[in-house]
Amino acid sequence: MADAAVREKSTTAEPEGELTDGFHLVIDALRLNGINTIYGVPGIPITDLGRLAQARGMRVISFRHEQNAGYAASIAGFLTRQPGVCLTVSAPGFLNGLTALANATTNCFPMILISGSSEREIVDLQQGDYEEMDQLAVAKPLCKAAFRILNAQDIGIGVARAIRAAVSGRPGGVYLDLPAKLLSQVMDAEAGRKSLVKVVDPAPAQIPAPSAVKRALDLLRGAKRPLIILGKGAAYAQADAAIRTLIEKTGIPFLPMSMAKGILPDTHPQCAGAARSTVLKDSDVVMLIGARLNWLLSHGKGKTWGEPHSKTFIQIDIEPKEIDSNVGIAAPVVGDIGSCVSALVDAMGGSWPAPPSDWTDAIKAKKEENIAKMASRLMRNAVPMDFHSALGALRSVIKERPDAILVNEGANTLDLARGVIDMYQPRKRLDVGTWGVMGIGMGFAIAAAIETGKPVLAVEGDSAFGFCGMEVETICRYNLPVCVVVFNNNGIYRGTDVNPGGGSDPATTAFVKDARYDRIIEAFGGVGVHVTTPDELKRAVDTAMNSRRPTLINAVIDPAAGTESGRIGKLNPQSMVRKKT
Ligand code: ADP
Ligand code: MG
Repeated sequence: MADAAVREKSTTAEPEGELTDGFHLVIDALRLNGINTIYGVPGIPITDLGRLAQARGMRVISFRHEQNAGYAASIAGFLTRQPGVCLTVSAPGFLNGLTALANATTNCFPMILISGSSEREIVDLQQGDYEEMDQLAVAKPLCKAAFRILNAQDIGIGVARAIRAAVSGRPGGVYLDLPAKLLSQVMDAEAGRKSLVKVVDPAPAQIPAPSAVKRALDLLRGAKRPLIILGKGAAYAQADAAIRTLIEKTGIPFLPMSMAKGILPDTHPQCAGAARSTVLKDSDVVMLIGARLNWLLSHGKGKTWGEPHSKTFIQIDIEPKEIDSNVGIAAPVVGDIGSCVSALVDAMGGSWPAPPSDWTDAIKAKKEENIAKMASRLMRNAVPMDFHSALGALRSVIKERPDAILVNEGANTLDLARGVIDMYQPRKRLDVGTWGVMGIGMGFAIAAAIETGKPVLAVEGDSAFGFCGMEVETICRYNLPVCVVVFNNNGIYRGTDVNPGGGSDPATTAFVKDARYDRIIEAFGGVGVHVTTPDELKRAVDTAMNSRRPTLINAVIDPAAGTESGRIGKLNPQSMVRKKT
């Protein structure tokens, strides 16, 4: 009925006062809630939405492919704790964005995918509309929540629901379906304004129970070989000061997961990053702060974790269902990390026993041994470069520019950079996350530059870069301070594989030899540089970061240097049955 009334009004078009429409209401609803940036790709039926948003002063970043726009939105969510918005066209554009939405949900990044959709009446009868697809049904299993808005007067509440769903509790991806007809629906402007909703306290604090806090502290106090693991939930929470206080007050060694690096500097005396295997294997009580016991932590069991059942776990997480997901958790502390960590610090009281020195000394010795081993590999000025010598140069770049943002993906390029490049500040390292997805690089780099204004260094395997490389045009178009370094070893894992069938086709994992990725960015007016030594690489990156000009550096890496699947080769099953051809 309401819908009919609105249409009635629009067709009779009485000059009875100011009117608004679906387009404007969506924009006003986002802006009212402090969302001022949209990442997307224009097209039917949302072209005008982007235009009007730009006209209203929003930042609208147009990409070349929705997946990259989606990754950008998701990492904007991680960096700002506000849902990043990705805007796409119907069916195929929606599906392209959906990968990023699912990835956001998996990584607990708040994001809203807004897609235009075709006529409901035709879609539901499957009569073959333009880009026909029941997008809401497709999105549902892949995100935290999915909503469709059919009436202009519901846009305010629909956007409010999407925002709250994305950021409250465990953050995640939300899908918002906007049929073409909704966007052009007209209604009275004053009624429209009144229908908008400013979300109050979108991510309410969740205070842990005092008994849970006490249980956790009792375990921690009694530990002989305690360890704290920081995950990207801890980075997301922006509770940096409280986390530092907890760690320094307890004196317990900490291990940062990849995107948690820098909450405390990797060079902090309590950082056990360089003794990872030792602390995982030998610790007795482990406190997880915003880190899941998923595959990245070997599910909390197996060889990595030493003797079976040798661990007692404490877990701080906002999601109660995460507790006991892989192994039993002796002391769950459910709540938001800021509140939980502060409650722990408060309940610790004035004095806290330092962890036994045989434990901290053993870690220190192991760290020193591993750091010395690594140093010699980093110093080698090998030509062609291997991963270590190239990463040694980039390690110095971040040391000298700790506020720059490092984006990182690839196989060897990822695994080795994670260990080699120390981070000094929170939320400066953005990478493939929970899925290990390839192709996040350019989307993450663009959003990082847009959201923070800081220079971005994107360290990309040549394969990973291929998934998103066209976005260097976007980087140039918006003149963003992004320096992309492609570690070019001629292929996936390495460039030396040959066709096992002996035919003229290249091996499945090999790329064009000696490709010049630097020339891609030159097509769009950016700076391309070709380097073969660590010194050249360091100089080129410094120049790029100082000038803030869009730059792509083709860094030649020894094609024989990589290993299969980097550090996770064991996940890549190998055939035991190979027939001679
Ligand atoms: P990592 O991969 O770095 O180990 P994960 O993504 O596995 O990190 O884990 C992040 C965890 O943090 C998730 O279980 C998520 O529920 C939790 N989390 C995210 N944000 C918060 C928050 N603000 N407070 C508490 N827990 C959070
Ligand atoms: Mg490669």
